[in-house]
Amino acid sequence: MAFKSFDSHTDFARRHIGPSPEDIQEMLEAVGVSSLEELIQQTLPAAIRQEAPLSIGEGMSEAELLAHMRELANKNRVCVSLIGQGYYGTHLPPVIQRNILENPAWYTAYTPYQPEISQGRLEALLNFQTMVADLTGLDIANASLLDEATAAAEGMALAHRSLKEGRNRFFADRNLHPQTLAVLQTRAEPLGWELVVGDPEADLEPEGLFGAIFQYPDTLGEVRDLRGPIERVKKAGGLVVVAADLLALTLLTPPGELGADIAVGSAQRFGVPMGYGGPHAGYIAARDALKRGLPGRLVGVSVDARGNRALRLTLQTREQHIRREKATSNICTAQVLLAVVASMYAVYYGPKGLKAIAEEVHRKASVLAQGLERLGFRRVNKYFFDTLTVEAPGQADQIVRRALEQGINLRRVDADRVGIALDETTTPEVVEAVFRAFGGEFRYEAFEPREHLPLGLRRTSAYLTHPVFNRYHSETELLRYMRRLADRDLALDRAMIPLGSCTMKLNPTAALMPITWPEFAHLHPFAPAEQAEGYRELMERLGRWLCEITGYDAVSFQPNSGAQGEYAGLLAIRAYHRSRGEGQRRVCLIPSSAHGTNPASARMAGMEVVVVACDERGYVDLADLEAKARKYADTLAAVMVTYPSTHGVFEEGIRELCEIVHRYGGQVYLDGANLNAQVGLARPGDYGADVSHLNLHKTFAIPHGGGGPGMGPIVVKAHLAPFLPGHPVLDGGTAPVGPVSAAPFGSASILPISYAYIAMMGSEGLRRATEVAILNANYIAARLEPYYRVLYKNAKGRVAHECILDPRPFKQSCDITAEDIAKRLIDYGFHAPTMSFPVAGTLMVEPTESESKRELDRFIAAMVAIREEIARVERGELKAEESPLRHAPHTVLDLADEHWNRKYTRTEGCFPGGQSALDKYFSPVNRVDNVYGDRHVVCTCPPVEEYSRG
Ligand SMILES: *Cc1c(COP(=O)(O)O)cnc(C)c1O
Repeated sequence: MAFKSFDSHTDFARRHIGPSPEDIQEMLEAVGVSSLEELIQQTLPAAIRQEAPLSIGEGMSEAELLAHMRELANKNRVCVSLIGQGYYGTHLPPVIQRNILENPAWYTAYTPYQPEISQGRLEALLNFQTMVADLTGLDIANASLLDEATAAAEGMALAHRSLKEGRNRFFADRNLHPQTLAVLQTRAEPLGWELVVGDPEADLEPEGLFGAIFQYPDTLGEVRDLRGPIERVKKAGGLVVVAADLLALTLLTPPGELGADIAVGSAQRFGVPMGYGGPHAGYIAARDALKRGLPGRLVGVSVDARGNRALRLTLQTREQHIRREKATSNICTAQVLLAVVASMYAVYYGPKGLKAIAEEVHRKASVLAQGLERLGFRRVNKYFFDTLTVEAPGQADQIVRRALEQGINLRRVDADRVGIALDETTTPEVVEAVFRAFGGEFRYEAFEPREHLPLGLRRTSAYLTHPVFNRYHSETELLRYMRRLADRDLALDRAMIPLGSCTMKLNPTAALMPITWPEFAHLHPFAPAEQAEGYRELMERLGRWLCEITGYDAVSFQPNSGAQGEYAGLLAIRAYHRSRGEGQRRVCLIPSSAHGTNPASARMAGMEVVVVACDERGYVDLADLEAKARKYADTLAAVMVTYPSTHGVFEEGIRELCEIVHRYGGQVYLDGANLNAQVGLARPGDYGADVSHLNLHKTFAIPHGGGGPGMGPIVVKAHLAPFLPGHPVLDGGTAPVGPVSAAPFGSASILPISYAYIAMMGSEGLRRATEVAILNANYIAARLEPYYRVLYKNAKGRVAHECILDPRPFKQSCDITAEDIAKRLIDYGFHAPTMSFPVAGTLMVEPTESESKRELDRFIAAMVAIREEIARVERGELKAEESPLRHAPHTVLDLADEHWNRKYTRTEGCFPGGQSALDKYFSPVNRVDNVYGDRHVVCTCPPVEEYSRG
């Protein structure tokens, strides 16, 4: 691992970091310090400065990295996996791989909270929602969840909150996928819900249930008519969730028509590689009446200022950042990029193509079934779509071994039963090899495929009738459709995205390349460990690096988002207290400035949230903290604190804060979202924290994908290590804390990105990146200070890696708001900073180390020009509603407006700051009407006539 690279053209860190050494000198002067070291001394409290440098070693060059990743990849063995259980082989169409998955216009985009610059991905997500709603036969679907198992847990929670009668029992089909059952168990227990597991026909006692969940087809492959059990649950007043396979639903009566209220599942097999567990898009769909309780993000149709159709995220009041401790879901980062891939798969193949794929899979399964029957093996499931479970008393191990000798993984259900799940990629040769594993020598052609679906469950209703699913079936057409959508959006490939708390840094190309290599992409999450030696080595080293960077002792890679990490960390704290006979410790102290996921996660972990005040400097009020810790001394479980704070300042009192909480018996959860301000400089594990999650999609260079994927591994001190999430596949369900995600290592296939990032940066590069991230933020703060109030600074006048600009006085003086500034920035070619978090009405700017001085200067110039535009309104030269600020963003329709009668010119509106027409980004819609969208909620593709309006 000790690669050396002295010449700068192979020095990755030099190019990951935006400003050149000369730029850094100039910026230091502007900030008013003589060196980076002096700036850090004025920024980071000396008491927490880490003593020893990181010991990760020297950074690799990109070429060295790729050679190294090739070696790791070679240690994984790609077999044909017929294990099923929610994960299937699939062909990712190359045109989608190259133009979505490998296209920075899609993968570097942020969550579409600024709808005007997100119309492309919003349309792709609306297509996803329409696809899911159509296939499940329900009214409304969200824009993705994390995986099938957590979607099932969200379905359960939705059922509970929709039923306002304090029922606490939920029935779960014993033939759910085992990992789904395990995640439901983890989720139910802290909330005091009883999970009754049984057979939907024999064991269902519907009285008093708040709901039930059934799998369709079930984990053993059976296709059961669920109408009876569904009706019984609903008659008794409960809600029904069906976990369904989307491909099977092209042939089967959908859950909505069976009477289900909610459907959940995974869109993985729509083109998304198994990836050793993820990332893939989970889905949830529901009846219209439940829409206000749906978790996650929901794309809806609205109108813009000109009355033209425009998309936006709708009903945001459902989400954790608004509901906070009243939230029942903490979902924030989801799986947008993978939902987009799956939606494009459906757009490409259309209803006929998808049905043909499903029928082909079914035919292969029919041939397999007939061959195995001829060999005398009895099937457990009478009907099937793609999965057979075969009785082979005492022979399961032997059959699985014989299959493996031919490079095929089968599912060992137990000693007497073997499962085989076929998919789009299964070839006749594979079917013949499975025959051999069962001791037969048949040719595939020896059997005539038949249909094995129950007559009464054949799908008769239409789906995907919307033109978008019937137009782009040639590669050229699809290519241009994807290009058209990408061109509507503003992602990191166009401009800096200065979103505070989100760390929108460079996603290095070399780090991304390995993720689509078959050795990383095509492993089944439950494949035998021997086939994943490369992954094991990668996770072992990455885990060590993350512990080294943070000062912790152990890691879990299972949480597949930051919020999932919070939840897993709090479950660890809860289990720790219980292990010491202190199960009454349930109070979680959370500062008022916390991210919305913090209180939501605490609630989900069965904790009671007590809010701690912040003082006028934005610091956690330590006196209030101590008072509350003392008040709840017997029941204090934890504090959740973000450091540096969400206000973008390193608080001096962090050590003391940790000591206070420990003194009263609590544990310290440190939200690691802001680790980009600390790597190489300070370690949470050294200054008193017990557990943190790390947003690998922030600090460690995994792209945001337009709102996911992400990874939120947690790092803990040794005393919490026994309470990291377990997984039935790893420990047979014996771990003290159950799984929080479907797959043992979460979205394993994106871990190579963070690994590659750390390997290429090396110890020095990582520390340098942190220093420059802090410099970039202080440079912006210093340069903009004469124009905007910088809300929070430390005693020496410094901010950490982000800063909050306060435009609230303009609201008073001339009715110009943070939103006006955010939208006007679009006209200048920028994505807005974070709006109204953590302080309502303000803008939080985080430039990251990857932005060059040139880009920072461009942003500063835009903000200064906007300040002058505000001044014109303040001076009364024009009213707020007449100003370009209020009319922003401007579009080509403004440019071409024959009846222009505004108080400013079209050039002032459309080309502010003297931008060149050559590279001008135009948002495709004018300002989107938020109120209209929430009043008229439409979350599927509107009829095509609507598209021609305007
Ligand atoms: C981003 C963020 C989170 C949540 O992370 P997700 O991956 O979106 O779930 C939590 N806390 C803070 C402070 C964050 O900035």
